[in-house]
Amino acid sequence: MTAVVDTSLSPQARLRPVPIRAVRLTDAFWEPRRQLNRTVSLREQHRMLEETGRFHNLRVAAGLERGSNSGKVFNDSDVHKWMEAACWQLGTDEDPWLVERVDAILELLEQAQEPDGYLFSPFVRGLRGQRWSDGEAHELYCAGHLFQAAVAHHRVTGSDRALGISRRFADLICATFGEGRGKLDRPDGHPEIEMALVELYRETGEARYLEQACFQIDARGHKRLGEPYAGWISADYNQDHRPLRERDRPEGHAVRELYLQSGVTDRLLEVADPALESAQMRIWESLVRGQVYVTGGVGVRDVSEAFGRDYELPNETAYAETCAAVALIMWNWRLLQLTGEARFADLIETGLYNGMLSGVSIDGREYFYANPLACNGGLKRRPWYLVACCPPNIARMLASLPGYLYGTDDERGVWIHQYATGQATVGAATLAVETSYPWAGDIRVEVRSAGTFALRLRVPGWASDARLTVNGADPSVAVEAGTYAVLSRDWRPGDVVELSLPMRVRRLASHPGLLENAGRVALTRGPLVYCVEQADVGGADPRFLEVAAGSEIKASRRPDLLGGVTVLESPAWAAPPEAAWNGRLYREAEVVRQGDGEPVRLTAIPYFAWANREAGRMQVWLREPPPR
Ligand SMILES: [Zn+2]
Repeated sequence: MTAVVDTSLSPQARLRPVPIRAVRLTDAFWEPRRQLNRTVSLREQHRMLEETGRFHNLRVAAGLERGSNSGKVFNDSDVHKWMEAACWQLGTDEDPWLVERVDAILELLEQAQEPDGYLFSPFVRGLRGQRWSDGEAHELYCAGHLFQAAVAHHRVTGSDRALGISRRFADLICATFGEGRGKLDRPDGHPEIEMALVELYRETGEARYLEQACFQIDARGHKRLGEPYAGWISADYNQDHRPLRERDRPEGHAVRELYLQSGVTDRLLEVADPALESAQMRIWESLVRGQVYVTGGVGVRDVSEAFGRDYELPNETAYAETCAAVALIMWNWRLLQLTGEARFADLIETGLYNGMLSGVSIDGREYFYANPLACNGGLKRRPWYLVACCPPNIARMLASLPGYLYGTDDERGVWIHQYATGQATVGAATLAVETSYPWAGDIRVEVRSAGTFALRLRVPGWASDARLTVNGADPSVAVEAGTYAVLSRDWRPGDVVELSLPMRVRRLASHPGLLENAGRVALTRGPLVYCVEQADVGGADPRFLEVAAGSEIKASRRPDLLGGVTVLESPAWAAPPEAAWNGRLYREAEVVRQGDGEPVRLTAIPYFAWANREAGRMQVWLREPPPR
């Protein structure tokens, strides 16, 4: 079963997964990006893994090359994540080049693995340190990425090879970590292994892996890791400051937190635990109440890559790591499997189209690590990073995307979570979906098989006044934003469901607690958040630009721009501060009104497409001062 997260036998799951192989995407938005991922990104990333010594480290560990282990201690994880991405891509595409590279990595990993199963290149044979000696060495983090890659490999190829490597290592980890005598009773500094162990359990049926995942979760929060990076990073950095069950907000390093929460939800899918579940829901609600950017970016502090206080969401210094957006999607996907609630699929949509997608350039060659919502110029994506977690993370998300669109349940229900053109076999049902999403909100679903089942279509939280018809007629069911519309009937081949989501331009305001956005609006249309780049406003500074209050904002298609996007246009004023402010820092508020500057035509582009031209200024939250 080529599911991205295999909940098909999970006792607590509301939803069952649909294999990647059961979805054939022909979508004009996502499928070209997935093909670019395969033909450009994965190839370039593989070259970088070689050039930056990541393969060299493994060859040294295997005794195939001389030299030392160099680079960041967690560099093995980039190889594992790349392999996972390649495997998911092979779930839908033939690509002998990728098959060969995956096999070569597996051979290398087999050679680098120690006889007792240990596999972490810096500490193999004590090359750079002693195994299990340092909770912040990312040993189990790298193991987790290895296990996820192995699970993907097994699901896609049916081969036990990668799974065998992983099982040997996982068995050693189970024998090493735990509460018993002579065992290490600490978690790993960087969560990741929790969800990987649950998936390894699902793939192998080995209950010890699930038990070890539970141990890793319960062991955290008791300060057993000591103070990480003592002195310069807060004590909640690795979530070891307080037991999870006692927490009520997201804390610490954002990617660590969201990987941890993903592992917790994976555990909850297997083992009911009301106290743990209610703690997790408190944390989720706190996240959406005060700590997530409008783009689905998370993590605000660039020093510790951490969550901040409620409403602490600075735009220009936003950290919003690409990995954190990917992790947000992964966590919400698991929550969706647990509950079937549309709010989780809504957040996945926001993350996919904005915070995650902004992490990669339109040509598939360069990446952002941080994804700020404002820029004073000079920011460009880069082909690689010293800490290169983001490029392969975005690659595995794009590669596995077909697995995130549909779901089924124990009543043969068909759930459509995200809309993209293509065909899918969901349980016993076959569907063909046609849409120009996210540019247009009309979605046509043709049922191609006969059967009695409930078809559930997500009506996004932003889509008020959505309309739904079945074979042209009103089905008289609730069609409410932020829920799934449910159509239960005897379906016949050729039945057509049409969902129409109004793609009006919306001006979003922030909660007053978010002081930086006071008097500003973010423009959105459908699932897309927009921004203004200097290049589109005649060189005016987008930070000071004034949107005409209450003006009609027009959407128009620009096939020539940035790979083809819909832009938003509106009258605006460029507001050169020096002309109006005459060197003053403060003025009486009454005299600050719209229209001091030159009239300009504002053109906003989708946020994901920014920084693909010159490295100019950019702004998501736009000034909208009161009219004169
Ligand atoms: Zn990253």
